[in-house]
Amino acid sequence: ISIIFYPLLSLLFGLGAFWLTGRAASPQQEFRRALDKQEFIPYLQPVVTGDDAHWSGCEVLMRWQHPRQGMIAPDRFIPMAEECGLIVPMTRSLMQQVRGQFAGRVHTLPKGFHFGFNISAGHCKDLSLVEDCRDFIDAFKANPIKLVLELTERELIVADETTDRLFAELHALGVFIAIDDFGTGHSSLAYLQAFQVDFLKIDKSFVGMIGSDALSSHIVENVIDLATRLELQLVAEGVENEVQAAYLREHKVAFQQGYLYGRPMPMKAFIEQLSA
Ligand code: C2E
Ligand code: MG
Ligand code: MG
Ligand code: MG
Repeated sequence: ISIIFYPLLSLLFGLGAFWLTGRAASPQQEFRRALDKQEFIPYLQPVVTGDDAHWSGCEVLMRWQHPRQGMIAPDRFIPMAEECGLIVPMTRSLMQQVRGQFAGRVHTLPKGFHFGFNISAGHCKDLSLVEDCRDFIDAFKANPIKLVLELTERELIVADETTDRLFAELHALGVFIAIDDFGTGHSSLAYLQAFQVDFLKIDKSFVGMIGSDALSSHIVENVIDLATRLELQLVAEGVENEVQAAYLREHKVAFQQGYLYGRPMPMKAFIEQLSA
């Protein structure tokens, strides 16, 4: 009996498992659905000048406005989106939404306002990024903006023919490159040169050390020194209090970003505050 029973049992289990997994949407399908429904939306956070704290630009941060789970932070879905190969269209959607929102009001933007978008390492192998950047820049022809692509130092971009071509074309377009989370990863001098970097964003973990113990202060001092010596434009992220702000001003860090100046917010709120 067992000769018939066990194969039959495992067949039933197999069918059951197939039925269950076949019904639940795969992450890929779920991302596709969310993309079609435009659930990936931009939040904007101001970036201010160090000396007089005026809004000189913003960083665009992705949020997932999920129908049942509410607003989901990027750390919870970006890695999965990258794995599913959907980060490119998701980023494109973000860029389209931002330029769409500003289309009728480009003259309300301060001169040379910059928009920073976060780009995954995998995205740097996709030449369609050039077209997306061109479309973005073209939308602001009447009052040119600066487009900045933020590449995190946590992910290593392996240079090859594709990245060489991509960065050359981006450069020709006038796109700026920022190294995000500077101090936490593996960018070397050669790396900074290969990608013709313009900005360094000092990671918020270092900014958080300002004003604490002697060792931490020493570390921050060194990161800022190194960044300054590279002669790139510096942005400090995660600025939360006046002590940090004053320290960064003293150390001639050109730009600051953090809750002290404004949290990431929906585009409408950002535009209201910008013109207030
Ligand atoms: P990031 O690019 O380093 O962005 C800065 C993060 O710090 C944001 O978190 C921002 O909300 C947060 N932040 C800003 N000011 C402060 C502050 O004063 N204190 C503290 N504690 N945090 C502050 P968020 O929005 O959760 O994004 C997390 C990360 O997700 C980003 O880090 C970026 O690496 C990634 N990310 C966000 N949007 C995108 C996207 O469109 N594409 C890709 N590939 N990655 C994205
Ligand atoms: Mg960033
Ligand atoms: Mg960062
Ligand atoms: Mg970060």
